[in-house]
Amino acid sequence: MQRPIIIEGQPFDWKDGEKNMLNAVDENGEVNWFAAMNADPGVMRCPKCQEWLWREGIKVKCPTCGEIILVNGG
Ligand SMILES: [Zn+2]
Repeated sequence: MQRPIIIEGQPFDWKDGEKNMLNAVDENGEVNWFAAMNADPGVMRCPKCQEWLWREGIKVKCPTCGEIILVNGG
């Protein structure tokens, strides 16, 4: 998994993600799905080289092959 090079848009807030990760399971062992789902930005694949990338930003560049990728919401 690689982080894309952000050309446009905001990178994922990893500090916030980490907080959510810590809150993903509460003291009773129950999974907090909201926190769990916000613990990372999700993933996408580079259409050119198939590299797995974190879904960050709006317009990004693949660090492996240099392909420009438009990140859509889902
Ligand atoms: Zn690529």
